[in-house]
Amino acid sequence: MSSYVSPRASSCILGIETSCDETSAAVVMDGRRLLSSVVFSQMDEHAAYGGVVPEIASRRHVEAIIPVIGEALARAGMELGGVDAIAVTYGPGLAGALLVGLSAAKGLALAAGKPLIGVHHVCAHICANYLEFGDLEPPFTALAVSGGHSHIYRVRDRRTFELMGRTRDDAAGEAFDKVARAAGLGYPGGPRMDAAARGGDPDAIRFPRARFADGPYDFSFSGVKTAALNCLNRERQKLALAPIAVGAWAGSAPDGARAEPGAAQPHAPAPPALTASAPIAGGGAATPVPSAARPPSPETGHVPGAPRPPAADPPGGGLCGDLGYGLPPAFMRDFFAGFQKAIVDALVDNTIRAEMENRTGRIVLAGGVAANSLLRARFAEEAAKLPGVALYCPPPQLCTDNAAMVACAAHGKFAAGEFSPLTLNASPGAAMP
Ligand code: ADP
Ligand code: MG
Repeated sequence: MSSYVSPRASSCILGIETSCDETSAAVVMDGRRLLSSVVFSQMDEHAAYGGVVPEIASRRHVEAIIPVIGEALARAGMELGGVDAIAVTYGPGLAGALLVGLSAAKGLALAAGKPLIGVHHVCAHICANYLEFGDLEPPFTALAVSGGHSHIYRVRDRRTFELMGRTRDDAAGEAFDKVARAAGLGYPGGPRMDAAARGGDPDAIRFPRARFADGPYDFSFSGVKTAALNCLNRERQKLALAPIAVGAWAGSAPDGARAEPGAAQPHAPAPPALTASAPIAGGGAATPVPSAARPPSPETGHVPGAPRPPAADPPGGGLCGDLGYGLPPAFMRDFFAGFQKAIVDALVDNTIRAEMENRTGRIVLAGGVAANSLLRARFAEEAAKLPGVALYCPPPQLCTDNAAMVACAAHGKFAAGEFSPLTLNASPGAAMP
């Protein structure tokens, strides 16, 4: 532990984040007030490959990190000497990407004689809420849901996170990304599916929901992911189209390290591989629901069978190519709407139950998937029914990866004098502290 300064309650912290495909730096006062935030996204480059390519991510971070930090300091009207500490994400994330931010932070800390503060990426996501909501204080129930995490925590204080529920396999964002990829939506899957589901009937196809007797707040998304692929292939079979290969989403990373698409070449939406594989068994099946049995959709007001408005394009460009590789657009909208609903139902139900059975009076959302429009609407709807429970949902730009949340999360450590040594290493699978 280094000890360049004595700890105090007031702080001005430079945060650095490079855990995946955003190079970001920000300056935050007292863990609450954002002075500047710069996010350089590599998304467009990775989109050509259908997912994040780790080596490309590292190389882009190397090019962007110094200009991004310089811009964040300039926008805050500061020089490096004016900050009290330098905070950086040490994990979880992609090793090569994390190392760029860490090396930059260490170099600056050493050169300027400032303390270094290593921050856990998921703690940072949760802490983003302190920036948006000046009145928010622990304890609260937090849902951290991103490409690498789907975890429910009871947050006791700024530095104590008790795990209540977790995914037993895929993270929710990973499931969105993989199924979007298999269905031809391309990358990034989550926001594209959010847009592609608009106008679809979420009750036309029912996807399975997993529950665990020995982990009431746990999630599992691998079954719904498999059911989604089977559903696409069943529909293809009806139209005498070749099946989408099992593993069409191959390459997404394990929990804690969203990663490579597996493809070495840029990914253009390709026709499905011509395999003879039958839909894979297990994980429950998606069930088409007859339209006569369905009421109008509560989310969209859509009446089954009636014409639907076209899906809006997602942020950053039009929908990728041929959805479902030849399946009818109306079917694909219902497919995306039903799949999204299954994921969102699980996230909302478990989080609400965790709060009701362990009352804190506050539910806090965090992570990239918290930008999902249906998730936000459903939480708002459910929280409104719970007297005495307030919902905290950060704006979308504070849900996805950014350095402001890193600087914010470091404030508690700064105030406690908890600094990191200059030997701090990247920890791609870092457990919650
Ligand atoms: P990481 O997973 O590296 O921590 P983020 O916290 O930025 O990164 O989360 C990225 C994940 O969030 C991706 O899986 C992405 O698909 C998902 N995501 C982002 N926006 C949405 C959205 N509107 N709907 C669903 N998922 C989304
Ligand atoms: Mg993240």
